Parts: sequence; C-alpha cells; structure tokens
Amino acid sequence: MKCTLCAGEDLNSFKGNDDVTLYKCNHCYLIFKAPQNWLVAEAEKDRYQQHNNTEECPGYVTFLSQALEPTLPFLEPDMEGMDFGCGPNPVLARMLEKNDCACSYYDPFFFPELPDERQDFIFATECFEHFFDPNQELKLLTALLRPDGTLTIMTNFWDETMDVANWWYLKDSTHVSFFHTKTFEYICTRYGYDLAYSDNQKVIILRKKVVW
Ligand SMILES: [Zn+2]
Repeated sequence: MKCTLCAGEDLNSFKGNDDVTLYKCNHCYLIFKAPQNWLVAEAEKDRYQQHNNTEECPGYVTFLSQALEPTLPFLEPDMEGMDFGCGPNPVLARMLEKNDCACSYYDPFFFPELPDERQDFIFATECFEHFFDPNQELKLLTALLRPDGTLTIMTNFWDETMDVANWWYLKDSTHVSFFHTKTFEYICTRYGYDLAYSDNQKVIILRKKVVW
C-alpha cells in the first residue's frame, strides 16, 4: 500500500467506526480509507443526489460563506473562476456572480465539462474529502489555475487532539481522504503554492506560485 497523495510507504493502519480500515501517512499526514471501503461510482452518485443543497437553504449559503468570505480579498470584479466539484446545484457560482465574479462549475458526475481557459480562482468546497486519488486531482487543479491564482479548499482537517477512529466525518461513506495542516504544507511544496490563509480547521486558501 502506498499513500494516495505522496506515494510514501511509511503508513500506519488502524480501524475506524463501521470497521473501516484507514491509513495514516507518516510523510504527508494524509489519512485515507483503504480502497476496499470505497463506494463504486453509481452508489457514489446516488449518495451525492441526496446532498440536495440549493440557494433556498439559508444554512447552506451560510456554510459556503465560510469559504467565500476569506477569499473575497483576493478577488477582483473581472475575474473568472470555477467551482470544482459543485455537486448537483452550483450554488457557490451564483453567490460569486452576486460579487461580480464570473464562475463556471465542474463536477465529475453532474457537470463533467472542464473549461479550456486557465482560471483566476478555484473553489473546492466539500470536495477534497471525496478524492480517491488526491495526487491526480491536485495535478488537475494546478493545471487549471493560472500563476498567482487562488485555490480555496474547504474540508474538515484532522489533528492529533481528535479521536480520529471515531470521528463523525468518517461516517459518510463518500468521505475517503482526510487532511492535516501538515498535508497542506506538503501540497504547497509539491505542487507549487504559498499558503495565503488558513483557519486551521476547515478553510484554507493556497496561492499558486508565479515562478516555481
Ligand atoms: Zn503521504
């Protein structure tokens, strides 16, 4: 078994709730579920259709604002960006339009067309925890972003104070990858980003290096 992000082989395995097998990478601090615990694509899509969040859900708009608010200082009115992994309803794209930013959207299940142009900003909210192959996804995200562009990620971070084996965030069967603040340090070094903002809990903004 190799780490799905850094391909490291220094892994500790442990059991989580519902008898799920997890690995923790001692190099990049990613925790990931063993492949036998991954949902197959059809079951995964069904599960996402149940995540039917719309703009009419004020709680969901408030939730997405946690990612949008710290990103606004980096945005300018003529910028074009993308909501990566938007799910069945591109709510964040509409919120950005209200802030005079054009925002396209992509989702492998619901809107599978990727843009041709490089993006000024990308949002990946509630998305990284679903990555089976975070290395491939980060290569794709980095290729889609222009130099100096921002990548806003919202996913719940794990840390050493938590009982990870019994963490509620693991219970969702579509959640397979769990990131530590050190995992994002690794991501910055490996894919060429600077840390622009972090709340150290679930929202982090990375800025793509101009020269790397
Ligand atoms: Zn790793």
